[in-house]
Amino acid sequence: VVPDPQAGAAVKAADRAHVFHSWSAQGLIDPLAVAGAEGSYFWDYDGNRYLDFTSGLVYTNIGYQHPKVVAAIQEQAAKLATFAPAFAVDVRSEAARLIAERTPGDLDKIFFTNGGAEAVENAVRMARLHTGRHKVLSAFRSYHGATSTAINLTGDPRRWASDTGSAGVVRFWAPFLYRSPFYAETEQQECERALAHLEDTIAFEGPGTIAAIILETVPGTAGIMTPPPGYLTGVREICDKYGIVFVLDEVMAGFGRTGKWFAAEHFDVVPDLLTFAKGVNSGYVPLGGVAISEKIAATFETRPYPGGLTYSGHPLACAAAVATIQVMEDEKVVENAARIGETVLGPGLRELAERHPSVGEVRGMGVFWALDLVRNKETREPLVPYNAAGEANAPMAAFGAAAKKNGLWPFVNMNRTHAVPACNVTADEVKEGLAALDAALTVADEHTV
Ligand code: PLP
Repeated sequence: VVPDPQAGAAVKAADRAHVFHSWSAQGLIDPLAVAGAEGSYFWDYDGNRYLDFTSGLVYTNIGYQHPKVVAAIQEQAAKLATFAPAFAVDVRSEAARLIAERTPGDLDKIFFTNGGAEAVENAVRMARLHTGRHKVLSAFRSYHGATSTAINLTGDPRRWASDTGSAGVVRFWAPFLYRSPFYAETEQQECERALAHLEDTIAFEGPGTIAAIILETVPGTAGIMTPPPGYLTGVREICDKYGIVFVLDEVMAGFGRTGKWFAAEHFDVVPDLLTFAKGVNSGYVPLGGVAISEKIAATFETRPYPGGLTYSGHPLACAAAVATIQVMEDEKVVENAARIGETVLGPGLRELAERHPSVGEVRGMGVFWALDLVRNKETREPLVPYNAAGEANAPMAAFGAAAKKNGLWPFVNMNRTHAVPACNVTADEVKEGLAALDAALTVADEHTV
C-alpha cells in the first residue's frame, strides 16, 4: 500500500469539521484516518500497519474484508437491496434459520434489530409484556448498549450521564473472584455468595415486581469475568422459582468469541431470551437481534408484539449473516478461536503475567481475554483508579501508546487491556501481538510499586 499523507489529512480535516464522535469531547479527540483493512490488520495513510487486537469494537469475528462476505453483500445488493420487514424474504428467512439452529435450547424465533442496544430494548419489552411486571435486574459490572433502557441497565460509568433512575432497573453484584464483592476466597464461595445476594435482592425488591434478570454470559467490556461453575445455572433456577425471565446478552460473547457459537454452551444454561449482534455478520452491515424461547414466543402468538424497526432483518445485513455463518462453518472459525485460546493466546498471556509485575490477573477463553493491570500484585490495587481520566490515567495511556508504537492496536478500558482478536486470527499473528504486548507491558511495569 502506497502511503498518501495528503489524502489522510483531507479525510481527517473533513472528519473534524463534520463528524460528531461517540463518547468523546469533540474538541479533544484525534481520530486516526484509516486507509484500509484486511484480515487481522488495518493501516493508515502514513504507511503504518496495525495488528487489530480489538476486532473493531469486538465485532469483526472473521476479520476485515472477507471476500466471500463482501461478494454476498454485493450479490444481494444487485438482487434485492432492501425490502420492508412485514414480508417474507428468502435471505431473511435463511439468516433466521441459521441463527436459530445455533442458539441453545428452544430459542428458535428471531426478532431482528440493527444492533445490540435495540436487541436489549426489545428483550426487556418482551419480558415485561410476558410477565406483566416492570423491574429488570442487571449487574454493576456490565455494558448493555447506549439507548434509553440499555444504558440504564448498563453498570459502567457511561450510564451516569443518562441515568434517569426511573427505568425500573435494579443493579446487583455478579461474581468476580479476583475483586470479590463478597470477600470470597474460592470460586465455590464466590458462586454461593453471589447467588445468595441475588436472591436477597429479589426478596427485598419483591419477586412479583421483577420481569427479568439480564446478564452478559461472560461480561465483556466490564472485564471478561468468566462466571464460576454453577453460577448461571443457579440464576436459571432462581428465575424459574420466581417466574422471572432470564435474558443472556451475547452481543459480545456470541458467535465464536469464546470458542463456542454461544458462550451459554460452556455453562449448560438456556436463557428465555438471548440478545446478539456484532459477530452475527462481523458487523459488515449493522445487524442484531433477540433469539426467543418457545414460551415467550407463545405470548405473542395471538397477541400482537408491540415493537418494530424499519430495517428489521434488512436483506443486506441478512445476506452478510448468511455468508458469515457459512464462512465460519467452512473455515472452522469457532474451532480456531477455541484452539488459539487454549494453545497460543491463553498460555502466551499467562507467560507475560509471570514476567510482568503490572499484570495482576489473566482471564478468559477462546479469543476473549483480559489482563487486569495493577500497581501492586499483592494488594491488587488497579494500575489506574476506577474511571480515571487525564493525568490519573497516564499509566494506561502510556501502555496504549507503547502498544501502537509496536504495531498493535490494543483494547484499553480502565485498568485493563483485552486481547480480543478476530476468531480466525492465526497463531503467528497472535505471537506477533504477544511480542508487542510484552514491550508495552514493560512501560506499564514502570508504574508498579
Ligand atoms: N450488549 C453488549 C454485551 C455489548 O458489548 C454491546 C456493545 O458493545 C451492546 C450490548 C450494545 O451493542 P450496540 O453498540 O450494537 O448497540
